[in-house]
Amino acid sequence: MARASQASRATAKHSITTELATFLSAQPTATAKLLAQHVDDGHGYCRACPLGAQHGHQVWPCTIYAAAARASRPEG
Ligand SMILES: [Zn+2]
Repeated sequence: MARASQASRATAKHSITTELATFLSAQPTATAKLLAQHVDDGHGYCRACPLGAQHGHQVWPCTIYAAAARASRPEG
């Protein structure tokens, strides 16, 4: 007999940011460190997320900062 797996369908929609936030919410020390490192460099780019020598840096807020910011908020 086949059973409908509703649970796996719901989790498939998780974004990388949500997964990171869930992971980080259990690690406040790591989250604080990430928030301190992944900051605007003054030009709208992340200081800690280089895209490579030819491409400069990732636009801020980057994925990691967004996840850490979400994890640090009580309401998620
Ligand atoms: Zn970053």
